[in-house]
Amino acid sequence: MSKVRRILITGGAGFLGSHLCDRLVDEGHDVICLDNFFTSQKTNVSHLLGKRNFELIRHDVTQPIWLEVDRIYNLACPAAPGHYQFNPIKTMKTSVMGAINMLGMALRCRARILQASTSEVYGDPEVHPQPESYRGSVNPLGPRACYDEGKRAAETLFMDYQRMNRVDIRLVRIFNTYGPRMHPFDGRVVSNFIRQALANEDIAIYGDGQQTRSFCYCDDLIEGIVRMMEGPDDFSGPVNLGNPHEFTIRELAELTIELTGSKSKLVFEPLPADDPTRRQPDITLAREKLAWEPNVELREGLAKTIDWFRNVDLGEYRPPTPNY
Ligand code: NAD
Ligand code: UDP
Repeated sequence: MSKVRRILITGGAGFLGSHLCDRLVDEGHDVICLDNFFTSQKTNVSHLLGKRNFELIRHDVTQPIWLEVDRIYNLACPAAPGHYQFNPIKTMKTSVMGAINMLGMALRCRARILQASTSEVYGDPEVHPQPESYRGSVNPLGPRACYDEGKRAAETLFMDYQRMNRVDIRLVRIFNTYGPRMHPFDGRVVSNFIRQALANEDIAIYGDGQQTRSFCYCDDLIEGIVRMMEGPDDFSGPVNLGNPHEFTIRELAELTIELTGSKSKLVFEPLPADDPTRRQPDITLAREKLAWEPNVELREGLAKTIDWFRNVDLGEYRPPTPNY
């Protein structure tokens, strides 16, 4: 086994964070999961609570915290449009103040720190597929800006802490990822379509359904994140992590109906503002530097996700809390 590390995962009770906790606890590391449960609940990590190498802290990353760790995975931030637009000012604070607090900790502890950035830094892209060198086309004034610009500012902070203070950073840009433990009411396309299909309700496609996304299964993504954290010393990113296999939203709806055996019909609703028309990662760099690429096909990953949705108690999940 690799050296045992003291690892902090902010946003560790969330969809991706909880899978990362599972992976790193399994590997024997000392894992601290920090979360304010804004878009998640303890049930995502409750199975880890008895483990000797797992600790859960309720805390908000916008506030300073004093811990001693060797690795920080900074995942704390609402990720779904419905969640991050719920309180856009808080979303920006979480990205920016959270980055400052965690970078300060990394500097003090000489810890390596990884930022979960996003394909949203490319906005509605004019370049397709998007390589890391593409600077993006983000509307700084629109409803998605609190997230997109917050994540862009966080990337800037990471680069400046690296240049000024030699903090050991890693930047990953995550493209649409799905799987078990995604918030069933996050309003994202995969969760909406599965819930609607399982209930035999109409499946609501926004726009004409010809817009595309590339969906990565969570296990593939976690492997990419860990490889980046433990990857070559001279490679701090940014690196795209996502599945390059592109699907239209209509194709996703049809596949969901097929895999659930649903009687749902497709209906069409207006497209939200600033909805990107195409999104597909160029993962050349991840292949080259990390020897990483996704292995799980959409059909297989979607079937596992549907299984989870069938068995989960939807009553355990709640929308964001108005106090945040
Ligand atoms: P998620 O909403 O399930 O997880 C985010 C976690 O952060 C939640 O547990 C939430 O409670 C916590 N959180 C939010 N604000 C916080 C705060 N101020 N202090 C402490 N904790 C806070 O979302 P996810 O899909 O697991 O996303 C994890 C990270 O990956 C996010 O940073 C997101 O921007 C990034 N990302 C995800 C995707 C994706 O498709 N899932 C795509 C791109 C980037
Ligand atoms: N979408 C949809 N129906 C839904 C939810 C989303 O047609 O119930 C569309 C949405 O307009 C977008 C795509 O699916 O074009 C992906 O949306 P999501 O919110 O999952 O993530 P995004 O990639 O836009 O951040």
